[in-house]
Amino acid sequence: MLDAVRPLAEEDVVLDAALGRVLAEDVSSAIPVPPFDSSAMDGYAVAAGPPAELEVVGESRAGHPASVAVGGGTAVRISTGAAVPDGADAVVPVERTQPVRPGDAAVNGVVRVPAIAAGENVRYAGEDVRAGDVVLHAGTVLGPAELGIAASVGRPALRCSVRPRVALLVTGDELTEPGQGLRPGSIYSSNRFALAAQVERAGARLVLGETVPDSATGTRAALAGALGAADVVIVSGGVSVGPHDHVKGALGELGIEERFWGVSLRPGKPVWFGVGEGTLVYGLPGNPVSAMVTFQLFVRSALAALQGADPSAARGEAVLDEAVPRNPRREEAVRVRLRQQRDGWHATTTGEQGSHMLTSMLRADALAFVAAGPGEVAAGERVEIELL
Ligand code: AMP
Ligand code: MG
Repeated sequence: MLDAVRPLAEEDVVLDAALGRVLAEDVSSAIPVPPFDSSAMDGYAVAAGPPAELEVVGESRAGHPASVAVGGGTAVRISTGAAVPDGADAVVPVERTQPVRPGDAAVNGVVRVPAIAAGENVRYAGEDVRAGDVVLHAGTVLGPAELGIAASVGRPALRCSVRPRVALLVTGDELTEPGQGLRPGSIYSSNRFALAAQVERAGARLVLGETVPDSATGTRAALAGALGAADVVIVSGGVSVGPHDHVKGALGELGIEERFWGVSLRPGKPVWFGVGEGTLVYGLPGNPVSAMVTFQLFVRSALAALQGADPSAARGEAVLDEAVPRNPRREEAVRVRLRQQRDGWHATTTGEQGSHMLTSMLRADALAFVAAGPGEVAAGERVEIELL
């Protein structure tokens, strides 16, 4: 599946709009950060030395460096973040000084300072970032710290991968929009909303969301429109073998090449994947849990790869705190809640695991993978988990 991914184009994104975007460049800093030697405390900038009484000859405030240098017998009052004046190499915190002769706004008085060593309470230029350092690497998903770093080196915008355009088609004559009355035999279309939210969370952009009737012509027409509008087309429902499942047939007619259909997984067996010209197409099962789980395990990683991000999921291990029966033929993705204990993560199931029971996704922290086979995984055994 990932072999079929062709990375998308790049664009400049201003920092305010870049949260969650994937960086498409290595960002290096043209300046040292901090840009100058500055004070870590409010106090007095001095030349290091033994206890002394010093004449205060000026002030260095944040954004307003002192106009005088520190010389023998003098100090400059200084604020946190202000530039350390020439001649000073240490800052005495104000709490450790005593006024000898108070002056005008404490600027031209005399203070008594204790002994202080060079470098104390000074933040040196370049301590955080040296000029020329690469601070962010291509492929990084931009979070709050990354945006802060980009700003701290003076970048107003960053080169990012464009967000994948996703078209979401949910199929089924039974589907009703929330807010409408339910007719006999109809249900509310939860996939339209759960999958759209997963698309958004994966950093992609939903450009089309449509409900498609269970007819060959309707399915083909909707798919044709979606293929022209998106980098990734997701279809939910209609990929099984029933007489009213039209998705596979329509995709074949539209020239989408099937790469796989059916995986040994529960929930999610009928998942379908194919490739068109510049488009990845997913047929996800209609059952709401299956749709969400297969999105997580298949679509999410492709959306990451399209943006140049690491497609691998956050995985780890947890101790199962309850026995879970194994499915004889298919690996099972069990929805679990996690709790941290002294010996690591512990997992309990979210309850009934039917693929139609969407409440099993509520407060699910992870999927726990239970290999196919006889019997059960006993309580206390370790299982692999993927964080949701
Ligand atoms: P299908 O894959 O089309 O056979 O659908 C499997 C099950 O999922 C059926 O019970 C459908 O009613 C249900 N289903 C399909 N699409 C949706 C949807 N958008 N929202 C909620 N349930 C759905
Ligand atoms: Mg259906």
